[in-house]
Amino acid sequence: MMAVQFDGHGDHDVISYNETPVPTPGPDEVRVDVKAGALNHLDVWTRRGLPGLDLEMPHTPGSDAAGIVDRVGENVSRFEPGDRVTVTSGVSCGTCEFCRAGDPTLCVRYQILGEHLPGVHAEYAVVAEDNLVAVPDDVDWETAAAVPLVFGTAWRMLVDRGDLSAGESVLVVGASGGVGHAAVQIAAHAGATVYATASTAEKRRHAEDCGADHVIDYTTDDFADEIRSRTGRRGVDMVVDHVGEATYPDSLKSLAKGGRIVTCGATTGPNPGAGLHRIFGNQLSVIGSTMATPGQFDDVLSLVWDGTFSPRIRETLPMSETARGHELLENREGFGKVVVIPDSER
Ligand SMILES: [Zn+2]
Repeated sequence: MMAVQFDGHGDHDVISYNETPVPTPGPDEVRVDVKAGALNHLDVWTRRGLPGLDLEMPHTPGSDAAGIVDRVGENVSRFEPGDRVTVTSGVSCGTCEFCRAGDPTLCVRYQILGEHLPGVHAEYAVVAEDNLVAVPDDVDWETAAAVPLVFGTAWRMLVDRGDLSAGESVLVVGASGGVGHAAVQIAAHAGATVYATASTAEKRRHAEDCGADHVIDYTTDDFADEIRSRTGRRGVDMVVDHVGEATYPDSLKSLAKGGRIVTCGATTGPNPGAGLHRIFGNQLSVIGSTMATPGQFDDVLSLVWDGTFSPRIRETLPMSETARGHELLENREGFGKVVVIPDSER
């Protein structure tokens, strides 16, 4: 079979599409005939290399993929060949205190398919039964592949960690990325007033289409000033920020007294000034969030399957052009998700 691989960390040119043996599922595993995958910023970080990440090479990346069950191990009970499935990429130990308390995203040995473990951007992928969710017949492969990681992450951020209520105001910083465009949809659905930032007229139109009530061009306006003026100097109840260093100071400035900022990533860098004077003075909360529990994935995916939420696809590429997909993410070109399809499926 063909698989996306890299032999070492580096720039786009480390990515290749190679012939490799078809994997065999273990007793608790399922083999999926992959019909589509989707890229995440995590794929870019993993390709570049992360401190403490020591991968067996060559590494197959990819955390999101959907397809048809091809073969199941002897202990698998929820799926059989022919079932339509999508992958959720969190892997937990099941035995540490946090797993036992019911939150596997806090697992002390938490791993993510495609980051710490072999990923799913190949013609066939073998994953544990626990990492699959059934996909209804009327949901297309691009949608099924594009949603799990970003909609799961955004759902946990806003609904669980952020405890968002109807009537509150939310600012989504960087609405054009995968998590951003999911967060806009989830906040609007929750009954919040949604503010979003985006850099181009086309991205701002997409953000409005996803449910943003107010869209700010951060390239011409200081978004914290703009939030102040549009909220009668009050600020918003919650900021969703996955951008990091470039936006965090203005994100804190955009918050109302007692507000909260929820972060799930830092694409521009992880070490902004802490802004402690604002945090204690305005009694703000800084909340971290990562991935989602199986139950949270089920909740948000059911709202994708029924059409409440829908991923926007910025581009669909053959898997052999995965490097171009990384470039789209790194250059912030387009709005929403980059989908990759095995070349043999196109
Ligand atoms: Zn654990």
